[in-house]
Amino acid sequence: MLQFVRLEQQTPDKRDIAARRSDFGEIYQDYQPPQAAAQASRCSQCGVPFCQVHCPLSNNIPDWLKLTAEGRLEEAYEVSSATNNFPEICGRICPQDRLCEGNCVIEKGFESVTIGAVERFITDTAFEKGWVKPIRPVRERPESIGIIGAGPGGLAAAEELRRRGYQVAVYDRHDRVGGLLIYGIPNFKLEKDIVLRRWKLMEESGIAFHLGTEIGRDVSLAELRARHAAVLVATGVYTPREIGGPGAGLPGIVAALDYLTASNRAGLGDVVAAFADGTLDARGKHVVVIGGGDTAMDCVRTAVRQGATAVKCLYRRDKANMPGSMREVKNAEEESVEFVWLAAPEAFIGTAESVDHVTGVRAVRMHLGLPDASGRQSVEPIEGSHFTLQADLVIKALGFDPEDMPAVLAAPEIDVTRWGTLKVGHKSFMTNLPGVFAAGDIVRGASLVVWAIRDGRDAAQQIHAYVQQTTAAAVAAE
Ligand code: FAD
Ligand code: SF4
Ligand code: SF4
Repeated sequence: MLQFVRLEQQTPDKRDIAARRSDFGEIYQDYQPPQAAAQASRCSQCGVPFCQVHCPLSNNIPDWLKLTAEGRLEEAYEVSSATNNFPEICGRICPQDRLCEGNCVIEKGFESVTIGAVERFITDTAFEKGWVKPIRPVRERPESIGIIGAGPGGLAAAEELRRRGYQVAVYDRHDRVGGLLIYGIPNFKLEKDIVLRRWKLMEESGIAFHLGTEIGRDVSLAELRARHAAVLVATGVYTPREIGGPGAGLPGIVAALDYLTASNRAGLGDVVAAFADGTLDARGKHVVVIGGGDTAMDCVRTAVRQGATAVKCLYRRDKANMPGSMREVKNAEEESVEFVWLAAPEAFIGTAESVDHVTGVRAVRMHLGLPDASGRQSVEPIEGSHFTLQADLVIKALGFDPEDMPAVLAAPEIDVTRWGTLKVGHKSFMTNLPGVFAAGDIVRGASLVVWAIRDGRDAAQQIHAYVQQTTAAAVAAE
């Protein structure tokens, strides 16, 4: 260990840019075993590991780095999977620069340990070697738990409950398991086979999936509560933030998730009408994406791969103040996306020949003002600085809010916060309805996969405690 003084950081090689632009394969290549061992050996085995403190799952990073450096990969996998249900997914898509790696103490004078890449390597190897096995609970319990939502939050909870022996049923309105892992996040960040192999493993573990089932429409929450000892709501947030201004309703202006879902579905071999007819395909188009988060980065990079003529990203703040991961911005720049910083849309234009379709975005330059109460600098338009960007496809990527949950679940009595997220007990994860728990984005608002996993695991623990208590109380009452 402690090799950071003589060994430089080496992130996994990226594929050639031209090749990246022409397909949807993941852009990072795999570490070879000697490379993974060498990079893991750069860790200085800190007494107080800040990497672990800043990992939402409190992963035991120093231990699995040491085991990897020593070539003890099966043990590394055991340690890594003890705190994380999907380490190979987090290793690929966590914004490590803001979490574990951004807090690695050797970052100051040297570059951080490549924690995410090693984490991914360990579990990919474990799958290859057959070390990843379906869950076989020590004892089966008679109680069943219903989980609404097969995203990372719901799936992590499903695994943890199954491990404790519960009969677990996961309901999702989609036809595939994974939530945003399958239909939101593009293949070049997370190949779909990685998600699909987890799905298979969970089925082999005895978790039952009821797909194409929308709770609130096909089955009521009341029915689920009657069916199961407890219910977990992990439905994510899906209402896109809208943009106003003249022409905002013109055809050719689309929502980011509709666009990404169509692309992901097409990649999985589905026939998507709006993709086939060109509505949600960027091929040969001038594309303008509005927004500066990870969703916007996924849209611009998808458009590049679909063969857009030009792709621009319009963001009202500057690069230093954008919410998206810097790694993804760099990848997008390499792939020839043009960023138009400090600019906001004011109107959408359709020409005389094409009033029924967007042809341009009228934008205004912005400057950063004084910090507001949250500490973030305000943005103000610069008078007389208007300009127009050519656009045949405008993608709105301004973030997501929760749906109207009492209406969606057909449960008007369920409590929500003023932001529309489900209100749960800080530690109990239970809503105001006894036995109904909630976790993931629907509680936090749009967040990260790693936080959804953490919430799913914590909620599972609380559900277990609740079911044990209610069962014990029922026995005592008999
Ligand atoms: P979701 O993943 O949203 O899953 C919710 C599931 O519930 C869905 O499958 C949905 O179909 C189902 N559902 C909803 N309502 C119902 C109902 N009534 N009945 C039945 N089923 C229902 N995070 C990262 O960490 N790294 C990234 O790189 C990253 N990139 C992202 C890119 C995009 C485009 C987006 C949109 C998000 C990204 N995120 C990223 C955020 C991350 O995907 C989410 O924080 C995470 O998926 C939340 O998990 P969840 O389980 O709470 O919800
Ligand atoms: Fe880092 Fe995410 Fe892995 Fe935690 S789960 S160690 S934050 S990559
Ligand atoms: Fe190793 Fe960096 Fe974590 Fe310290 S902070 S234990 S050097 S990975």
